[in-house]
Amino acid sequence: MCKDINATKEKFHHYIKQLQGLDYTSNIVFWDASTGAPKSGVEARSNAIGVISSFYHRIMTDSEFNACIDALAAVPDECDEITNALIRHYQREHNRVSKIPADEYEAFQAHITKSAAAWEDAKEAEAYDQFEPYLEKSVEMMKKFAEYRGYSGHPYNLFIDDYEPGMTVDQLDVFFETLKARLVPLLKKIIALPKPNTEFVTASYPVAKQQHLSETLLDLIGFKRDHGLFKESIHPFTMGVDIEDVRLTTHFYENDLLSAMLSTVHEGGHGIYEQNVDKRLRGTPIATGASNALHESQSRIYENNFFRNKAFIHHLYPILKETFAEQFKTVSEMDLYRAVNIVQPSLIRTEADELTYSLHILLRYELELALISGTLSVADLPKAWYDKMEQYLGVVPSNDGEGVLQDVHWAEALFGYFPTYALGSAYAAQLYHYMSKDLAIETLLAEGDFEPITKWLNDKVHQYGALYDPTVLIEKITGEPLNADYYCDYLEKKYTALYQL
Ligand SMILES: [Zn+2]
Repeated sequence: MCKDINATKEKFHHYIKQLQGLDYTSNIVFWDASTGAPKSGVEARSNAIGVISSFYHRIMTDSEFNACIDALAAVPDECDEITNALIRHYQREHNRVSKIPADEYEAFQAHITKSAAAWEDAKEAEAYDQFEPYLEKSVEMMKKFAEYRGYSGHPYNLFIDDYEPGMTVDQLDVFFETLKARLVPLLKKIIALPKPNTEFVTASYPVAKQQHLSETLLDLIGFKRDHGLFKESIHPFTMGVDIEDVRLTTHFYENDLLSAMLSTVHEGGHGIYEQNVDKRLRGTPIATGASNALHESQSRIYENNFFRNKAFIHHLYPILKETFAEQFKTVSEMDLYRAVNIVQPSLIRTEADELTYSLHILLRYELELALISGTLSVADLPKAWYDKMEQYLGVVPSNDGEGVLQDVHWAEALFGYFPTYALGSAYAAQLYHYMSKDLAIETLLAEGDFEPITKWLNDKVHQYGALYDPTVLIEKITGEPLNADYYCDYLEKKYTALYQL
């Protein structure tokens, strides 16, 4: 048992160092696998990952480590705020599994592996019935786990709290009802109008030039490339292996001018967050974003609020016109702005535009909440999906592959994860609103001057890492909790002007 408090702290940090070392190693293996390691090495890689995970699990369940956590949790006044935040972090990690009987948790993990494989086949075959029994079992198990873990109010509170600490169903209901009431009618007005011509976007744009452009954009927004790596992968992602080593990827398509630029700036936003966490948090699991949604707010603010901003397009247009003189012969600045902000309801979430994206999330939130509440059966899920797609987006999938089976989340029982995507955009709009009280953002964007903008985010958001819960941090920065009106106001203002509604 840990007795002396300083010795306990020392021991606690020693365990963290080991956990972080293992985490670092598995991150590097994952990075390597995603950015060019040969497929033929997959067996050796998965063996290595298996060994690392078992060491990780061993430390997390080590009785001495847990005794340290309990001992320090009992004396918060004798611990600094970083130690207290770390204690909260590990207590949360434990709460996810420690109250669930070990054999049931193991069975759950085995089930998830099978469920993910069944989902892949079912998606390929566009056959929901192949996946249905697995989802049925996942919902049952998650409900049972909620009982073991204990919750207040709705069992879904537990699942959302796993990804967005402090958020509740009551808050989410208000949030999504606001989105539904304001964005669905806005979308209906826009889709009734003729579409702008965006043919130039799919002309041929040499990848070497696109790559140079992406690097220029990263430098411009303030991602420190000399403290990270920038490569190509199939699906763009960001990985902060250390504050001084943040890696990100994009994907280039020769016949798409915008895809790589948008994902570069998006991942750049994630990367800037990871690079600017206070060095006092370095080497701990809280040297990262405050939550999934806060992290997403930083990628979205660069991608949507800044890059897709009319003022920034004014800065970008001459650069593109010079880089792609031939392709841009007849393209005006307004053509570019319209193309970057086109609204086109689609069936697939990951291909959605800025306005329709959150409606895809609204639908998923309502459905998974109904599944957990028991008001919707797993068998009726596809029909409910079709109905809501029609109601919110005005498009209906022709099969379940492009409908209810499109995302991996439910196959992996990640209930509570989807809402964080929409919360990210809403946090971004709220932060932009408050930033505009301090900075002339649009003047800066038109000049391509991101320094004061990124500095504002460094000071207000990034430096704190995960020291505070997101609900606490947003109040600390803006003086109020998450408020969906900033997000809806922003979208209404932007699209009303763009489409002259
Ligand atoms: Zn992201």
